[in-house]
Amino acid sequence: MADPYPRVFFGDQIVDVDQARLSVATSAVLYGLSVYTVFPVQVDGERRTAFRLADHYQRLLESCKIIGIDRFAQEWTFERFEALARILVAENAPETDVFVRVSVHVDELVPGTRVRGLPVTVSMFVYDAVPIVPQDGMRLKTSQWRRIPDGAIPSRAKVNGAYVNSVLAKQDAIDAGYDDAIFLDGAGHVCELSAANIFLVRGDTVITPDVASDILDGINRRTVLALAEAEGLPVAERAVDLTELYIADEVFVTGTSAGVAPVVEVDGRVIGDGEPGPVAARLRELHAAALRGESTSRVGAADWITEL
Ligand code: PMP
Repeated sequence: MADPYPRVFFGDQIVDVDQARLSVATSAVLYGLSVYTVFPVQVDGERRTAFRLADHYQRLLESCKIIGIDRFAQEWTFERFEALARILVAENAPETDVFVRVSVHVDELVPGTRVRGLPVTVSMFVYDAVPIVPQDGMRLKTSQWRRIPDGAIPSRAKVNGAYVNSVLAKQDAIDAGYDDAIFLDGAGHVCELSAANIFLVRGDTVITPDVASDILDGINRRTVLALAEAEGLPVAERAVDLTELYIADEVFVTGTSAGVAPVVEVDGRVIGDGEPGPVAARLRELHAAALRGESTSRVGAADWITEL
């Protein structure tokens, strides 16, 4: 767990963190009616760079559109979003890498279960970039909780209330002595973790559930697919069976807060030789370089980076 940095954007100004409060009567609190994203900022002395900021903004817009939160698009251009990120990070002056969490809260008081046209409050805060899963080989357990399907609460939208599904799965995994959970859909296909996308490697092919598999379309998932392709590795986005994970040469996960992190055990089966594998290690290295805007291959170059 990490504490927020002291200065937080809330509504229309930057305030102290204890002043950024929503009413108990808002839709955000009553129904979990907020959408969010978390983007990373790399700090190197005076230089601060955000990774794929425009993609985070775009996904936030799309989450709003899916849920019916229409005021965000009317009130927040990318230029406003970017300018705020720059001011807020500068004001907190982090000395190490941080994550920035941006939320769009529906804050009408006691509105009932509706959304269109209701006012929104945007919040943005900064916290230390501490990974949420072990980076040296994690152990996963299939959850008995199923991933919320597109026809119930779409996983494609990063909506706060939907994270109850992730909490159920993650807590069960922790209680059982594992690091995180693997969600399956109703038909038994692999979806993702509680807050990360999942990949497997078979031979040299890099495989991950496709975007119609009840997953969040992770920005690091897209990044790793692009990096793998640039490395000349065959990639496949398709339905994945659970037992494919058991017999994979490598399994790894991706996410802003998860990084590119190897998996060494799934449901008591040792993955590969039980050590983090070479493909995951290479992609992890390329991803770390891309985050810093270093071009180590034909992708991962400057257009993923915003100087703050
Ligand atoms: N799936 C879920 C459910 C998540 O919460 C996250 C974290 N945002 C991811 C995948 C990874 O997405 P990203 O790479 O955009 O951080």
